[in-house]
Amino acid sequence: MNSQQLYFYTVFMKKQLHPVKRRKLVILGTGGTIAGKAAHASDNIGYTAAQVGIDQLLAAIPALAASGLIISEQVSQIDSKDMSFDVWARLAARVRHFLADDDVQGIVITHGTDTLEETAFFLQLTCQPAKPVVLTCAMRPATALVPDGPQNVMDAVAVARHPEACGVVAVCAGTVHSAMDVQKVHPYRLDAFSSGDACPVGYVEEGKLRLLRNWPVPQAGIACEAIEKVATWPRVEIVMNYAGASALTVQALVDQGVRGLVVACTGNGTIHEDLQAGLLSAQAAGVRVVRSTRCPDGRILPLPGNTIADSQGLSPVKARIALMLDLITEDQRPSAAGQT
Ligand code: ASP
Repeated sequence: MNSQQLYFYTVFMKKQLHPVKRRKLVILGTGGTIAGKAAHASDNIGYTAAQVGIDQLLAAIPALAASGLIISEQVSQIDSKDMSFDVWARLAARVRHFLADDDVQGIVITHGTDTLEETAFFLQLTCQPAKPVVLTCAMRPATALVPDGPQNVMDAVAVARHPEACGVVAVCAGTVHSAMDVQKVHPYRLDAFSSGDACPVGYVEEGKLRLLRNWPVPQAGIACEAIEKVATWPRVEIVMNYAGASALTVQALVDQGVRGLVVACTGNGTIHEDLQAGLLSAQAAGVRVVRSTRCPDGRILPLPGNTIADSQGLSPVKARIALMLDLITEDQRPSAAGQT
């Protein structure tokens, strides 16, 4: 019997011995460091992400056998730095499919850390789940001497099994973050994520959730079905303010037909006068422009007379997703569809 067969046999035997009626949990694999392989167990950084399949990954966590019935599926196998709109659409469709099943209690998604906050936010806005959708990850590859992935998966499962859990959250290093607030803040540390000013949703301690605040609530977003109909995603880019910033990048993007721009401003929404001039002329030409701050904590406090829309506290990468979804909604309005 190989380790995978042993894993499923153990799950089967546990169910026979303890026939507690528990709903299914779905674990979707997308790749990332959690599924990464390095040539040496001592190498935590020189690995290739997205090498181990989800079934193999789960089979290597024998303790999961006590977590009830688990269904697993490989949705993609990528390094999340290469996340694409196609993968997002596929993932949203699978999440929607499983959430609609009454027998499914929740979903865990294994994901790379680099763009985890973007996928989490995207799923929160498109799926608005009343059940838990828990993204988890690892900072060390599966081959590491002491990998962090297995514990993160166990913690994510504990959150997804919590009777009150709902919405999209991320679980890493024992901390539960809301999709709305989570940001990767460290390139190496195992505890690589922060919720900034908002504080985490809670902590997982020895398999038990200690809740600190409310679960993420549904936001004004876009229906998941609408994502499945998108033929071409609206191009929205991020530009940053910094010393010596100019309008050159904005002009080049406008020439390329960009539909939206998010500006990662300095401080409380300040923009170099040359960049600001470029953004205002892009806006006058019909490009949607949104201002966010490059400060990792806090949010812009808008001033009367601001002519560029405020991101409402969203980080630049999340403001970009919100703007893309807004443009998709606009494109799919019957009047817009009629014009094309
Ligand atoms: N580049 C990897 C990824 O995002 C990093 C990680 O998972 O930690 O897939």
